[in-house]
Amino acid sequence: MNAQSHSVSWGSSVIGFVLQRSDRRRVAIEVSPDLSVVVRAPAAAGIGPVLAAVRKKARWILRQQKYFEQFLPRTPERVFRSGETHLYLGRRYRLKVHQMADTSAVKLSGGYIHLWCRRDANQKARKLILDSWYAVAIVRLSQATLSDCLRHKLLRKISVPTIAIRKLKKRWASFTKQGRLTLNPDVIRAPRRCLEYVLTHELCHAIVPSHSPQFFKLLTRVMPDWRSRKHDLERILA
Ligand SMILES: [Zn+2]
Repeated sequence: MNAQSHSVSWGSSVIGFVLQRSDRRRVAIEVSPDLSVVVRAPAAAGIGPVLAAVRKKARWILRQQKYFEQFLPRTPERVFRSGETHLYLGRRYRLKVHQMADTSAVKLSGGYIHLWCRRDANQKARKLILDSWYAVAIVRLSQATLSDCLRHKLLRKISVPTIAIRKLKKRWASFTKQGRLTLNPDVIRAPRRCLEYVLTHELCHAIVPSHSPQFFKLLTRVMPDWRSRKHDLERILA
């Protein structure tokens, strides 16, 4: 697979995008929350048809970028000190760092996330402790949520996917044909309804792999309010 940068003019806007050619049959366009655009095209496609495909979707691309733009700039970097706010299932908690214990631990209590760590634990070490606590929480919750989602009559025939937790750069989750669902641990910071949306979205891919009209038709039948859940997810985790 190779990647090249291109651009297309549309009215007074310029749409820059990265073109990735690979062994695929159709052109697909994706806009990420950081406003970047990736166009995937068949290896043999000429540049003319690719540019035409981008022009045809220009209005949609600009609308997607405008949608994501409202969530920029992103949240500043965390330093993992007492008093800092951290999210868990859509609620804000104050971090309280206890630097005394030999062992590390995290506990939610009374509006606080208590983090116990050694006196010499630096920012990176504290982040690691909290990240692994988040990862354990999301595995537990996503497994329970997944069984709830699979109860829907349209999804009942899908075999239970295996869940992997991995920091994905630009996506909330991904799903392979082999039934492996990779989840971005950040989703645990949003309300549970957002986790339900992410899992339902990926489960629908077990039936319709692409983001075709059939896919969104299915998703809407399974979860009629998916748009507002997606909106909450983007807003909260911005
Ligand atoms: Zn998808």
